Amino acid sequence: MSPPKICVVGSANLDLNTYTNRLPVPGETLHAHRFTMGYGGKGANQAVMAARLGADVVLVARVGNDLFGRDMLAHLRTEGIDTRRVTSTDGVPTGTAVITVDDAGRNTIAVTPGANGLLAPADVDAARSAIESARVLVCQQEVPIETNLAAMRLAVEAGVPVVFNPAPASTTIPAEAYRLSTVFCPNEHEAAVLTGKPVESPEEAEAAARELMARGAHNVVVTLGARGCVVVTARDVTALPAPAVEAVDTTGAGDAFIGSLAFFLARGDDLMTAAQRANRIAAISVQSPGTQTSFPRAADLPADLV
Ligand code: ADP
Repeated sequence: MSPPKICVVGSANLDLNTYTNRLPVPGETLHAHRFTMGYGGKGANQAVMAARLGADVVLVARVGNDLFGRDMLAHLRTEGIDTRRVTSTDGVPTGTAVITVDDAGRNTIAVTPGANGLLAPADVDAARSAIESARVLVCQQEVPIETNLAAMRLAVEAGVPVVFNPAPASTTIPAEAYRLSTVFCPNEHEAAVLTGKPVESPEEAEAAARELMARGAHNVVVTLGARGCVVVTARDVTALPAPAVEAVDTTGAGDAFIGSLAFFLARGDDLMTAAQRANRIAAISVQSPGTQTSFPRAADLPADLV
């Protein structure tokens, strides 16, 4: 069987993590005891997750023509991702997240979108054949919404299902984005921000999903952290609990879920089966530290999962 093709339109960031005893106060210089760099950006994360499961992934993104951009491109290639539509851009830095974490696990995070903010509908036009030949298109909200809409329109016109992850949270999303979403997939916080109502239980997640479907989304999957997810289609509602595991770091769990969901859908699974399997993969990712570093590879998974 040839690998399923997935096109991801989205962000690529370098995470710069500094570990200090406590968070610095304004004007203060502190000595940190550790520094790490990590690959991030929701687009890149989801692309890496899908590629590690065995998908043929094209990423449509922008990085700066700088050290971080070159490093990101090399990394994505190592992961087997097709980077021909990742444009190296002059005069703008690669997106970064500068993160400080103290001994109590509290953090401050400053994100500079950099090149991600320049990903344009023209980049999507240049990737037209990759989008039209994909089995699934995946978009999130760390690049301009007009760019996402351009990609989603192309996909829908070509009959390619769209997984839209409305993250990070925003209070409004254009009506067209709902209508173009085959699967609209927020976490509980994003679902609450979008609907203006609390989403803390599977019942509240179902109510939120119904509202998002009334706005035009064809199917909705709300992820609920340790409680798994709720899948709502025109025909049924299913709460799928996540496996009970010892979570050590849930950073990137949502991206592990979305990248896996896209992989299983592209492979031909129905939405319920795909969400069930994505729950299992995301639950594996929370058991080790880091974002992409915690994403499993197909070879390490039980045979019944991939
Ligand atoms: P986000 O990372 O966007 O906040 P969630 O917290 O909803 O997303 O997590 C996404 C998915 O990751 C969940 O649907 C579940 O499958 C898995 N997951 C997250 N936290 C845990 C946990 N503590 N135990 C098991 N699975 C988890």
